[in-house]
Amino acid sequence: MKYLDEFRNAELVDKLLSKIRKTVTRGWNIMEVCGGQTHGLVRHGILDMLPPQIRMIHGPGCPVCVTPAALIDMAIDLSLRPEVILCTYGDMLRVPGNTISMQQARAKGADIRILYSPLEAVQIAVNNPGKEVVFFAVGFETTAPANALSVLHAYKAGLSNYSILSAHVMVPPAIEAIMSDPETAINGFLAAGHVCTVMGLSEYEPLVKRWKVPIVVTGFEPVDLLEGIWMVVSQLEKGEYKLENQYRRVVEKDGNRKAIELVRDVFEHRSREWRGIGEIPLSGLFVRDKFRDYDALIKFDNLVKHAESQYDCRSGDVMKGKIKPPECPHFGTKCTPEFPLGAPMVSSEGACAAYFQYAQK
Ligand code: SF4
Repeated sequence: MKYLDEFRNAELVDKLLSKIRKTVTRGWNIMEVCGGQTHGLVRHGILDMLPPQIRMIHGPGCPVCVTPAALIDMAIDLSLRPEVILCTYGDMLRVPGNTISMQQARAKGADIRILYSPLEAVQIAVNNPGKEVVFFAVGFETTAPANALSVLHAYKAGLSNYSILSAHVMVPPAIEAIMSDPETAINGFLAAGHVCTVMGLSEYEPLVKRWKVPIVVTGFEPVDLLEGIWMVVSQLEKGEYKLENQYRRVVEKDGNRKAIELVRDVFEHRSREWRGIGEIPLSGLFVRDKFRDYDALIKFDNLVKHAESQYDCRSGDVMKGKIKPPECPHFGTKCTPEFPLGAPMVSSEGACAAYFQYAQK
């Protein structure tokens, strides 16, 4: 199978659904960790096709959704300083911080630029020697190598006006936190193929063994998702727990060694707050001391420090699988993509946005 259409093939989808129906005998909670997978499940109507015994739980795999409001406040604070050009990805623009969003900061005159790559931000720093260029680096392991590379480029070029505000988070510590939470009852996981393309599979093996839980690495198309679900259900029904790789056409066991080295050279693991969820030990990537000149948290004095506000959004309950987005009292009323109360309604990987866009039709 080489082309995208083949992974949306109706005949294959039917066959996989029939295999799942024949295999499942009792109820199972399966969490897809990644927001891209949530969108795939909702957009293609897969949730409605699955047998009722299978409950898909939408995990915390939307990096924009879990970025703390306090970090967004810091980015906004920086962007409003006259000497700063703040760069970030487009998804971040409308996410509310504790007070305003970056879009509202822009209306107040902040120089905020939307980029596809942090390497563009390095070039902006080269072109604007009189300005401080800060890249608000949001994302999971998938975007970390490019952000690490931007720091290395700036370091090697001796650039003194480039830094990153790192909001990076890692998937395996999040799975550990979910399994440690006595209120969640997850029987199996679909792990995100693109994260494993970068990092490989080794970090998932200890989770499978410690929690005796099946983890299957999958892609994002209907055939990938359904095959992944069938692989998880097959293990559960046999009482097995293994790490399996459904996404073999892309994911290799050892991942991308060059990218892993890059990330390890520039970042170190420390505990990080996840919006709506709380602190997860060793789940964040922070700039190493060697590159402290490129760490906005160190470079800039008096960064605003707001405590996380107790706002009305129930994103934490959505991301822990305690409620589905439409069960939030604000879904589609006080909270819409146009006027979002929380990040999951505005991010392209947010579960609330997925249900609003596709499940209401
Ligand atoms: S519908 Fe809005 S308020 Fe409710 S959980 Fe989703 S983003 Fe938060």
